[in-house]
Amino acid sequence: MAEPSSWRFNSSAYARFVKELPLSEDQVLLEYVYVGEDGESLASKCRRVDAVPESPDDIPTWTFAANFPVEDRFLKPVAIYKDPFRRGPHRLVLCEVFANDWTPAFRNFRRSCDDTMSTPEVTSVEPWFGLEQEYSIIGANNRPLGWPNCFLPQPTGPTHHDAVGMHKAFGRDLYEAHLFACMYAGVKISGGNAEACPGQWEFQVGPTIGVKAADDLWIARYLLHRLSEEMGVAVSFHPKPIPGDVGACGGHVNFSTQPMREDGGIEVIKSAMPGLAKTHQEYLPLCDPHGGADNQARLMGYFCTAPKEFTWGVEDRDAAVRIPREVEKSGKGFLEDRRPASNFDPYLVTDALVRVVVLGQRS
Ligand code: ADP
Ligand code: MN
Ligand code: MN
Ligand code: MN
Ligand code: MN
Repeated sequence: MAEPSSWRFNSSAYARFVKELPLSEDQVLLEYVYVGEDGESLASKCRRVDAVPESPDDIPTWTFAANFPVEDRFLKPVAIYKDPFRRGPHRLVLCEVFANDWTPAFRNFRRSCDDTMSTPEVTSVEPWFGLEQEYSIIGANNRPLGWPNCFLPQPTGPTHHDAVGMHKAFGRDLYEAHLFACMYAGVKISGGNAEACPGQWEFQVGPTIGVKAADDLWIARYLLHRLSEEMGVAVSFHPKPIPGDVGACGGHVNFSTQPMREDGGIEVIKSAMPGLAKTHQEYLPLCDPHGGADNQARLMGYFCTAPKEFTWGVEDRDAAVRIPREVEKSGKGFLEDRRPASNFDPYLVTDALVRVVVLGQRS
């Protein structure tokens, strides 16, 4: 077997061909990106077309063979991004997956999300989402960067939140390259930071209306995985990569409607709480791709994680739902749902939030 080092990405050869060979404008590569059948992995395949597509409707549908069971799936292009790797006219094409009879495939949660976001009751209140994505950069020792080879039991240690310095921040090359790749692609990045544990980072997208926030998050995840190939590390979205009494990875959903953003909107925000409390038990299973099982160890109710039961509070980062201090103070703004795990499906979660808070559904 080859040494792991021989598998490393050859950046200079890559640059020589991908970035430097002159190509005629009628040679455009479209990378079709889709969410795997497990609801968390990402996959992609490329196809050459003759012109830069203007809209997803200009792009041909395609197929791939799914593994469980082996049968065709259809890929339907739904959003276009610029390709930060190939650059030029080349594009990333986010796709929805359909079964071979064109019904939404298992775990195509975008269909329902888009339908919900498109209803008149929902478009009239302009739902905005700001999604926070925490992730871990995993090194060759199969641990997040900066963790010692033996890490059980672990000290709680000083926090690495917003950390700077080589003794505290590990993997900034990937983190930083990713922010730029996202901005180039057309993902609406709103920020980022080093997170509480070594090798743990965060970026945020939004605020963005409707399904676009979730589209951006999936493409941003794709870009992280794709970049990890070049960096010789792996990216994990698992909510609890290190067991025990240390931090975890979340996927906070910041959410507002037009009435919440207007003067006095704080009352609208507070009036959402009873519905969120009532639906808490049905909501937790939507917070990760394994029916809530991945999230169990993360929901500690301390170290800035939500508890297992429903709680809410102003400024409270150990609550399930937080109203930021400045929102309370200005009397308008948004709420932060801290329950979703870092491997949540943003289509499923934003869909559920809108059903409960805007449409008043209780199951
Ligand atoms: P935290 O203090 O929880 O770490 P972040 O700064 O990481 O907060 O993330 C806050 C997110 O909330 C950002 O993505 C931001 O764009 C988003 N946001 C800001 N205002 C609104 C709003 N009115 N509605 C929805 N999301 C918002
Ligand atoms: Mn083939
Ligand atoms: Mn944050
Ligand atoms: Mn965070
Ligand atoms: Mn947050």
